[in-house]
Amino acid sequence: LGQLYGPLNQLGFIYRSINQSLIDTEKLLKLLNEPTEVNDKPGAPDLIVENGEIEFDNVNFSYDGRTTALNGVSFKVPKGSSVALVGESGSGKSTILRLFYRFYDLAEGQGRILIDGQDIRDVTQKSLRQAIGVVPQDSVLFNTTVADNIGYGRFGSEPQEIEDAARSAQMHDRIMTFPEGYNTIVGERGVRLSGGEKQRVAIARTLLKNPPILLLDEATSALDTSTEKDIQKALQNLVVGRSSLSIAHRLSTIASADLILVLKDGQIAEQGTFRDLVANKDGLFAAMWADQISSSEEPIQVADDPKEE
Ligand code: ATP
Repeated sequence: LGQLYGPLNQLGFIYRSINQSLIDTEKLLKLLNEPTEVNDKPGAPDLIVENGEIEFDNVNFSYDGRTTALNGVSFKVPKGSSVALVGESGSGKSTILRLFYRFYDLAEGQGRILIDGQDIRDVTQKSLRQAIGVVPQDSVLFNTTVADNIGYGRFGSEPQEIEDAARSAQMHDRIMTFPEGYNTIVGERGVRLSGGEKQRVAIARTLLKNPPILLLDEATSALDTSTEKDIQKALQNLVVGRSSLSIAHRLSTIASADLILVLKDGQIAEQGTFRDLVANKDGLFAAMWADQISSSEEPIQVADDPKEE
């Protein structure tokens, strides 16, 4: 999914980094080689976001016209609330995010996706993507300064704004350890950042962009405890006051989500809060959760531990 989001998020960068090496541009163009099936309708208006309320209304989708990726998916993300998507591989989590970002448009009669009552097929893609911040699993860094890597979240950001975003994203202290602070080159030809650090740079970018709606694709890889805490704090600072739709793997996200949707074979099999779902001992989520606990090397401590009677 990150591969799909990255290029669109990074597109603006092409215009700014004229001095950037050809290698970066090539890499970007390769990433951009993704489906471009979606066209704006003639004279499409811009999306107007008032509350950032999201609605999937009976959404059906197939990539190939034969197999079903989503089947009758309906849910709402009320203003400022967080919805977590969980489910086994292939259950349709990424498809929900891809459709929401309009990598594909729904065919007539296959349901609707609405933001504040506006069908996303009817508005410009540019305005839609302007309203949405994406934090992918694997963020792309460019071979430029860390300040530029953050600052391109919003062109023309002041250094102080970049620093404030980095602080909120729990990245400032780490940046201060770099040889030239914010002017240090990062990426393949500079300071290499860990996965968790790259994700915090992406969070800082998104904080600067300040979108009303967020799509988050959490990394599945295990992180050490202090990185995990930093990311958790950074994400908390990011999601507050925004409507968010997350592919969730982290306990912190799942436990604190306003609503969890459990997907199976392209359908919502169960939904509720963490507390609701673990209480349903015969349910899919309770089984997934028990599995996760038994396969975890670290003991997982939660009040709602489903193993407790
Ligand atoms: P994962 O956790 O592995 O990322 P997921 O829950 O995000 O899985 P999706 O990627 O949404 O699942 O996939 C839903 C269904 O659509 C699966 O059956 C998958 O094989 C199919 N699918 C996904 N992407 C494509 C594609 N580009 N072309 C054809 N089929 C696809």
